[in-house]
Order: sequence, then C-alpha cells, then structure tokens
Amino acid sequence: MDNLDIAKFGGTSVANFEAMCSSVNVVTSNKNTKLVVVSACAGVTNILVELASGSCNEAKMQELLDKLKHIHESITENLDKDVQDRCNKHIENTLEEVKNLTFEANMERSDSLTDRLVSQGELLSSYLIVEIFKKLGHKASFFDVRKVMRTDSNFGKSQPLIEVLADLAKTHLLPLLDGDEIIVTQGFIGQNSEGQTTTLGRGGSDYTASLLAEACNAKTISIWTDVPGVYTTDPRLVPHAKPIDELTYLEAAEMATFGAKILHPSTLVPAVRRRIPVFVGSSKEPEKGGTWVRAQTEYSPAYRAVALRKNQTLIVLASPKMVGASGFLAKVFTIFAKYKQSIDLVSTSEVSIAVTLDAGSNTSGISSISNDMINELREFCHVQLESNLSLVAIIGNEMSKHSGVTTKVFDAIEQFAVRMICYGASSHNLCFLVQEDSAVEALIEIHKFLLENE
Ligand code: ADP
Ligand code: ASP
Ligand code: MG
Repeated sequence: MDNLDIAKFGGTSVANFEAMCSSVNVVTSNKNTKLVVVSACAGVTNILVELASGSCNEAKMQELLDKLKHIHESITENLDKDVQDRCNKHIENTLEEVKNLTFEANMERSDSLTDRLVSQGELLSSYLIVEIFKKLGHKASFFDVRKVMRTDSNFGKSQPLIEVLADLAKTHLLPLLDGDEIIVTQGFIGQNSEGQTTTLGRGGSDYTASLLAEACNAKTISIWTDVPGVYTTDPRLVPHAKPIDELTYLEAAEMATFGAKILHPSTLVPAVRRRIPVFVGSSKEPEKGGTWVRAQTEYSPAYRAVALRKNQTLIVLASPKMVGASGFLAKVFTIFAKYKQSIDLVSTSEVSIAVTLDAGSNTSGISSISNDMINELREFCHVQLESNLSLVAIIGNEMSKHSGVTTKVFDAIEQFAVRMICYGASSHNLCFLVQEDSAVEALIEIHKFLLENE
C-alpha cells in the first residue's frame, strides 16, 4: 500500500474504554493508517512483571490477578452482551494461563518464563481494541505479531532479526494491509526461531512500530501517547517544558538514549535506515498537533532539550599498572562485551577509568550488572561501585563550536555536587552524573538556564 502509516498507541492510550475510543478515532481519521500497534493497558505490564518475579505469595497473586481482571473487564462492560461474554471468557482463559505461569515462576523464575507471562498484556489489549473498532463501526482484525517479529533468544531484551522479519512480513502481513480492514497487532513482543515468546525490553512497543514500518515500507510512523509531542524535557518533571515542533533523528535519538521515556531508545534506528519520518502526538488531544522527527529541521539550536536517566551505576576501575601501560582499557571493555553490558559514559585518569552502566531496562527489571563480571574485573584491578546516581544530559547542536556553552552549563549546575562529566565525544550532548535525590532539581535548574530564557 502507498503512503502507509503505522500508528502505535502506548499504555495510557489503551488504558480503558474511553482511551481506546479516542485511539480508534485517531486511527480512522487518517485513511493511511492501516496497521496499529498497541501496548498493554496502563499498569498491566508492571503487574505481570511482579507476578513473574517468582516471589508472589498466594494472597498477593490473587490481588494482582483481580486487578488485571478489573482493568480488562471495565473495558468489556461497554460492549454488547454477546461480545462482552466472549471477551470476558477470553480474559478469564488468559488470566488462568497467567496464574499457571505465576506458579511456575514461584518454583523457578527465568527470563524466558517472564517473557511468556508479560506478553499476555499486549495480547489482551490488542484483542480488546479490535472489538472497540468494531463497536464504533469499523472493520478491524487481530494479528499475532509473533508470526513476523523474529528475534534472537536474549529473553527480556531481545534483538530483532531484521531480514527474517522483512521476509515474514512480506508473506504474512503485507497482503493483509491491502484489504479494507485495519490490522491490529502487539508491540513489545516477539518470538525466537524455536517458537518461544520474547520481548524487546521495557517500553519496546515504539521499537516494534518502527521495525514493522521498515519491514512494510511505511511512509510514516505515528507514536500516539499521553503528551502532545516531544518536549524540551519531561513535562511531568518540569512544568515549564515546551513542546518541540520538529527534531532531527539525531536529536531525538540522543534524547531517547539519555532517558526521555517518550521514545524507546532503539525506535529511531529503523526509521533512520529507511528515512521514515516519525510523528509523536497525544491520542487524547490529537488536535494539539505534535512533533515531527525527521532527517533535517529548519532550526538547529545549540540547546534543544534536557533529559534525565535514573538508576545509573558508576563503576570505577583502578590499577596502578595502568600508568604508561597499554591494553588496560581493551581488557576492561572485552569483559564488558563478554557480559553484553553496554557502557554509557566513560572518563579516565592516570590510574583509573570510570564508566556508567544502566542497571535495568530488560523486562524482568532485575539489575543486568552481573556479579560474575564484577568478579572477573576484580581479578586484575580494584573495582568500586556507586549507585543511586542519575544522568542528566543536555542535547543540542554543534555545542563544541559555540563559545560559552560550558560556562553557561556550569553556572546552571553550580549548586550541585557533580560526580562525573562527559563532553566531547559528540557535539550533540553534554552529560553529567549527580546524586539521584538532587537530579530533578538539577534538571529544573538547567532547563531554566538553557531553555527558558530565549
Ligand atoms: P506510552 O505508554 O505512550 O509509551 P510513556 O510513558 O512510555 O508513554 O512515554 C510518555 C511519557 O514520557 C510522558 O508522559 C512523559 O512523562 C515522559 N517524557 C519524558 N521525557 C519527555 C519529553 N522530553 N517530552 C515528552 N514526554 C517526555
Ligand atoms: N507494555 C510494555 C511496557 O510497559 C511495552 C510498552 O509499553 O512499550 O514496557
Ligand atoms: Mg513508552
């Protein structure tokens, strides 16, 4: 299909009957939107992650299952009686499966079991929203994304197999998009080549939408969420944050990488490969417009946005042998690579190196910093870990070419104890680490200094 738009709706956009109705109206007001990707209803993935943790006693399990039943049944109570009965039966069967998987997790939790369990959230929301499309008089059908979303077996944060996905989409999905129905599918979940369910990591539905857009040769990707676009910083933390009309892929990718939760960090990768513009808007207030993310923008300000990423761990590795020696960094990075640990910030001194790691973002929520890795590092250097840190990132353009940039930033953070600074690898960002408890205050202050006085 020409001009195909793929629309993704996050948890709050499918949270209840009213939210689902607004989302359906958004879809049907654009004739090019033929493929819809949905997240689980708001709060559902968190509940499922808790059930999968392996530490829910029976009372807790029942309480969580009741919550899941309530969330989903409050949607179906708005449907015609026969449809409602069928949907409630479907919810009941799904929750029975969730219960069995929870018992299994209590015996022995695993990342593969977690993925099987949490995938039920997206499977349920997509099943139900198809009925809302129909109730509002539109043709829609359910598509199980696992037929096409082939991934590796890194449960909890799996990587898509792009070429296999493209082939499978050509066979199973593209032909459906030429019909007169709207195809509704799940974000976040996938399947490995053995047929096991996988997930792309928390917040992964945005990534699903852009992967499917690439595989289906879409012309646009629309990310519908609970705010009317990407702002200069998280508007929930900084009330003076302002919406941004347009962003380059690079700016948006930097923002997402450094914590702007509005987009999953990998979302822009397929979009950049295929130069697909990405729109971000609010499903409740589509009339407010939103942000276009594309290859180029009219305006490239030195400061575009600030972002905050919590839950950072700083690892300081020190070895007196590092003085004048070569190969220390290579050895350290080889170990990080062996444990699939991606490093964010790096800073070095004569005898030490400091790096930051993100403690989580895989579906289980369990810290991905492995003890085996730390022990292996300890075999040849002194290792010190610090947690409760937050990364604050300033995102802009050609920052290193303008004089006074650092002075202005340092003035803004004057009152905060800064644990680490990174600047220079890219002219698009300047990052620093502060204690978690002063991070929001630092964000507010920097936003005021750099983005409110123009
Ligand atoms: P969804 O469930 O729709 O994917 P998310 O909660 O993942 O929604 O992302 C939307 C949230 O991202 C917003 O409610 C907002 O609090 C947060 N956010 C963080 N940084 C930004 C930013 N720069 N601009 C807009 N929203 C942001
Ligand atoms: N439901 C998943 C989560 O809460 C994926 C997503 O919403 O993007 O992380
Ligand atoms: Mg999200």
